[in-house]
Amino acid sequence: MKFDTKVVRSGISPDPSTGAIVPPIYQSATYVLEEVGKDKGYDYTRASNPTREMLENNLAALDGGKYGIYYSSGMAAVDSVMKLLKSGDHIVCSDDVYGGVSRLYNNLLVNYDLTFTYVNSSNPQEVEDAIQNNTKLIWIETPTNPLLKITDLDAVGKIAKRHGILYGVDSTFSTPALLRPLEFGADITMHSTTKYLSGHNQIIGGILITNDDELGEKCKFIQKTVGAVPSPFDCWLTLLGIKTLSLRVTRHCENAQVIAEFLEAHPKVERVTYPGLPSHPQYDIAKDQMDGFSGMISMELKGGIPSGISLMNGLKLCSLAESLGAVETMITHPATMTHADVPKDERLARGLTDGLVRLSVGIEDSEDIIADLNQALDKI
Ligand SMILES: *Cc1c(COP(=O)(O)O)cnc(C)c1O
Repeated sequence: MKFDTKVVRSGISPDPSTGAIVPPIYQSATYVLEEVGKDKGYDYTRASNPTREMLENNLAALDGGKYGIYYSSGMAAVDSVMKLLKSGDHIVCSDDVYGGVSRLYNNLLVNYDLTFTYVNSSNPQEVEDAIQNNTKLIWIETPTNPLLKITDLDAVGKIAKRHGILYGVDSTFSTPALLRPLEFGADITMHSTTKYLSGHNQIIGGILITNDDELGEKCKFIQKTVGAVPSPFDCWLTLLGIKTLSLRVTRHCENAQVIAEFLEAHPKVERVTYPGLPSHPQYDIAKDQMDGFSGMISMELKGGIPSGISLMNGLKLCSLAESLGAVETMITHPATMTHADVPKDERLARGLTDGLVRLSVGIEDSEDIIADLNQALDKI
């Protein structure tokens, strides 16, 4: 099956009792046994649920994996990966990793005697140089949030293999429509399905995907043991969202490309970062390993904080909102919104400059998005 067919069909079959084409929401905590030792494949929804299982099988197929293990959030999925480790282990991680991930690492998991080294994984040599005797996980995000750095997954995959280290990739910004990290040697692919996969800002969820029997079994054990599982209704909403993944992602990419080009030519904009622009430092790698450049753009406005505030307040169509990957165009100014509480030097050290703006381009008509950005930029 080709990818676009898998999106609509893989793992999903009509309801055996009625023929309903849309999978039922199996909103049940438990399942009745026919007799002792004889169930129909389900006993308790924390362990498994038919609606969730269809979603897990569908997403696993899209990433070319055998096992999908679904969680109540992207963060719960990341936390499950960490539960594969033991105290004393060391982790090498992309430096511009999602803020929730670094918060989990730096504010919670350090208390369990795990240690972390953050590296610019766009340079694979930095990943290799950071490896210690006790390194047990390499955690890569590509493109990163919010600076959209790209990592050469194949190069890091070879390093992970050579050193026998577990290799996980947060592929949320790419989606399986554009990138399938297992093809590049990743052991585990992770997505926050809150973003492009569900696509309509309707749920919080996360998935791990792997081809490795042992890892699949361990993650399934962690899922059932810890219990960070979503409701069957959330799984059902996600299943419906995924049906249009290919169409949506194509449009996100088309819109983002023209908007990035518009912004790059705009006099109020200092710099645009978009993997689909030849000016992006890893443009060639992105072109080789991805089937498109996604819908995320970041830009540096001239004039710092006042310009950021002016742009945010001047927009009429684009929504001032955290999160990304949904049909609506959403925009954030980290210095005054998501990272307003981070001390300035720390924020700047992380590359989150005063004029940095992150745009999650939606699937509206690009001319309307550009007109909105243009009128708001003019008011700066
Ligand atoms: C949103 C996000 C997460 C966390 O997912 P939640 O569903 O919000 O828990 C992790 N990584 C990336 C890249 C994200 O964008």
